[in-house]
Amino acid sequence: MAKKQFQAEAQRLLDLMVNSIYTHKEIFLRELISNASDAIDKIYYKALTDENIEFNKDDYYIKVIPDRQKRTLTVEDTGIGMTKEELEENLGTIAKSGSLAFKQEHEIKDGYDIIGQFGVGFYSAFMVAKKVTVISKALGSDEAYKWEAEGADGYTIEPCTKEKVGTEVILHLKENTEDEFYDDYLNEYRLRAIIKKYSDFIRYPIKMKVTKTRLKEGSDKEIETYVEEEIINSMVPIWRKNKNELKKEDYENFYREKHFGFDKPLTYLHINAEGTISYRAILYIPESIPFAFYTKDYEKGLELYANGVLIMSKCPDLLPDYFSFVKGLVDSEDLSLNISREMLQHDRQLQYIAKNIKNRIKKELEQLLHNEREKYEKFFQNFGRQLKYGVYMDYGQHKEDLQDLLLFYSSKEKKLVTLEEYVSRMPAEQKYIYYAAGESVERISKLPQTERIADLGYEILYFTDDIDEFAIRMLHTYKGKEFRPVAGSDLGLEAKEEKAEKVETDKEQEEIFRKMKAVLGDKVKEVKASQRLKSHPVCLATEGDLTIEMEKVLKKLPHNLQVKAEKILEINTGHQVFTALKNAFAHDEEKFKLYTELLYNQALLIEGLPVEDPVALTEMICRVMV
Ligand code: ADP
Ligand code: MG
Repeated sequence: MAKKQFQAEAQRLLDLMVNSIYTHKEIFLRELISNASDAIDKIYYKALTDENIEFNKDDYYIKVIPDRQKRTLTVEDTGIGMTKEELEENLGTIAKSGSLAFKQEHEIKDGYDIIGQFGVGFYSAFMVAKKVTVISKALGSDEAYKWEAEGADGYTIEPCTKEKVGTEVILHLKENTEDEFYDDYLNEYRLRAIIKKYSDFIRYPIKMKVTKTRLKEGSDKEIETYVEEEIINSMVPIWRKNKNELKKEDYENFYREKHFGFDKPLTYLHINAEGTISYRAILYIPESIPFAFYTKDYEKGLELYANGVLIMSKCPDLLPDYFSFVKGLVDSEDLSLNISREMLQHDRQLQYIAKNIKNRIKKELEQLLHNEREKYEKFFQNFGRQLKYGVYMDYGQHKEDLQDLLLFYSSKEKKLVTLEEYVSRMPAEQKYIYYAAGESVERISKLPQTERIADLGYEILYFTDDIDEFAIRMLHTYKGKEFRPVAGSDLGLEAKEEKAEKVETDKEQEEIFRKMKAVLGDKVKEVKASQRLKSHPVCLATEGDLTIEMEKVLKKLPHNLQVKAEKILEINTGHQVFTALKNAFAHDEEKFKLYTELLYNQALLIEGLPVEDPVALTEMICRVMV
């Protein structure tokens, strides 16, 4: 019989499949099953408008039939079937078919990658089969046809007999090689696993004969095997079920089943969105930090289904980075099955869904924050850093979304508070939101720089995460209130207050500070009388945008930025130590230098900064002692 030629593009794609070294060849079954399911859908939709067709759900199914003797795997359906013309049109060309995506991008040089990125449809059968036979009878037709192809050099079509309307796709498997054991695709367990993995939620039953064992009749020991047809897929996925049919345990089981985590979800969301774009989603916020979460190996993403068929197991474009801890899946009827990863990024539908999902997660977190504070704090302990990172990222464009989800430890409340809570408690005359950064709550609470602000009765937010200050810098203001570090050069206190408390700096003092600055050289930018100290003799303040905590963080980064905060040494002129300093200034130059160095080193220690020369420091202390 004369062979017909494939259309050039089809031939190219087919060649690619035949010679494929792609490792996930198993997806061919997903493609064939989804074609079968589409074919049944077509009858179903026809029946909706054509009263001559009756759609009786039980008559429609997909069968997967492995035959070890013949080394064939057949996928049979009772769908709409194909006429002779349709067989030629659909299987001989890449026209309107789902491999359209491939057609559009078929200039791509390296074919190997394409398979992972596209649903390559029917031709993927040639990854595992040396010959493919399609027997089909179309709805409303009396004739059946057999289409057959061995590789890319052409196909044949001839009439044949087939009783029922529908299609059988018969794969004659390739010979086993050292690298590839094609007999795997005849193995019941393997087939079941593949069907479960990719096609569990196909709406029609996928039937397969499976071998089972039972006790022989009349015996209580002897076991016999028998074969029974079973429906392999569960058909109705949990996300298609009604929320009120489901219990918390159902969601928790599903979380484990899907290997989203070994923990329990802290909370979950079941979305059934209908509108411009319909989709369903189940989303989880894990109770504990996922494995490798704060490393670059961690991959965010949600499972993505197009009408029940898994098309991507981790679609990153569905989640913003700051919600990368969210696990779950999305299923939409409005997505096409054959969609490439690059295309997904630009896919309008997908972007719409992603935006929707982001808002839902945000809302869920807000609800948690307001109604289940303890739970939210647990969440924030694990993932707060990610949210703060989100504020900082992308030039702060997500800050509006995230600012109300942030928590910081409060000097007053002695617990985590929101920015809103802070601002709502601010006394009328307080202009700024004050914060202090440091290693831990304990250390910050002992920082001398906090004294003055605390004394005025103002609340101070404690920043203990590296990212905190950077995130806040990005926020800049909250509800019109600017953030100010308590160690900053300008506390922005009310002018009248400032005046009243202002310590008169006399000539002598000025002399002393100038001399101290000369002793310390470049280490500090200035020495001056402190407005913020009460009981402590000394502290460091900073001028400009960079604070000491930020300097510490930046120093830790791999590129080791040599940036330095502009430090100001502040002296408490009301402290006894200052009297000692004054005496030394008048009578003993050596002592004056010693005291100056000691005070500077004390200030460094208080900040948690390394002292430049620890040995010299201990010697200085000894000198004071003896
Ligand atoms: P897609 O399914 O995305 O259109 P495929 O390459 O998988 O692309 O299939 C090409 C076409 O072949 C389908 O659009 C369909 O018209 C036809 N086809 C494939 N398998 C079947 C089947 N089992 N029953 C009916 N038609 C089928
Ligand atoms: Mg298809």
